[in-house]
Amino acid sequence: MRNVVIMGSGCAGNTAAIYSARANLKPLVISGHEAGGQLSLTSLVENFPGFPEGIHGPELVENMKRQAENFGAEYMHGAVIEADLSKRPFRLNVEGEWIETRTLIVASGASARWLGLENEQKLIGHGVSSCATCDGFFYRGKKIMVIGGGDSAMEEANFLTRFGQEVTVVHRREEFRASKIMMDRARHNPKIKFLTSTVVDDVFDASKHLVTGVRLRNVKTGELWEQDVDGFFVAIGHIPNTKVFRGQIETDDEGYILSKGGARTSVPGVFHAGDVQDRVYRQAITASAAGCMAAIEVERYLEAEGH
Ligand code: NAP
Repeated sequence: MRNVVIMGSGCAGNTAAIYSARANLKPLVISGHEAGGQLSLTSLVENFPGFPEGIHGPELVENMKRQAENFGAEYMHGAVIEADLSKRPFRLNVEGEWIETRTLIVASGASARWLGLENEQKLIGHGVSSCATCDGFFYRGKKIMVIGGGDSAMEEANFLTRFGQEVTVVHRREEFRASKIMMDRARHNPKIKFLTSTVVDDVFDASKHLVTGVRLRNVKTGELWEQDVDGFFVAIGHIPNTKVFRGQIETDDEGYILSKGGARTSVPGVFHAGDVQDRVYRQAITASAAGCMAAIEVERYLEAEGH
């Protein structure tokens, strides 16, 4: 029986692990499908306080993990595929192995959202990607397309100009959601072109197991045209990883956990941390702070129960 299991190993999960390990709770962290969370897929992080020159995302998250391990946190590979939160102890199925715990911190984050086109799905890993840092390298001298109008799309587009001969950003509206600084950087990058009020109708060519081009549509005029593309990067936001708790923890319509104050969820003894609950700030530093809050709440909760 565990005192606390932490689901997720991004900034939120790792910070919860540091705090709960230092409180002698011997936390077990279940790494999840995307170990290290979103930071492990980014390049330079320039806004995490304490690093005046910036720090690479994977290094930052690995440092957090090592820090937690130094205080006795344990890490387990794998993802929770089933959960029973109907009674205590809570039970979690981690790829076939059932784990029991007095408390749970859900720090499972949010995963990349896709357009949902049939051929897009078929070509993931064959030219379709959601991670420029992971896959940009493969498109040296090639034609790259980035979908989205937020900070992620601008960041990915800028990063991809290191490799591609040109990067086209395709956005469904005229106005961009991205912050001014990210937008300015992209606009001043001579390798980046913008196609606004434009959506992707199809991605080719699934029969060749390779991205060769796309069919685009102007949403204002209805005009359709095809464009050659080698790398297709989707950066249109994320979906919270709460599927295993459906019907057990209260969420909003999109699946984000509804907070019941502090780090509390609708289930006493289950706490939230990071992007799985936060659709507003979604930063490394706010996720870490949320992990800290959840760990402190767990500590107090267990103490009140006499553990
Ligand atoms: P986001 O801000 O939610 O932007 C998603 C973009 O994708 C929007 O432009 C949206 O269009 C578009 N989109 C969504 N669904 C679509 C669909 N089905 N088809 C076509 N387009 C679609 O997500 P994000 O860019 O991933 O950013 C998430 C958070 O992380 C933000 O708070 C952001 O500031 C932060 N972030 C910060 C940095 C940084 O500071 N270095 C880097 C990356 C992310 P609409 O605008 O029309 O809705």
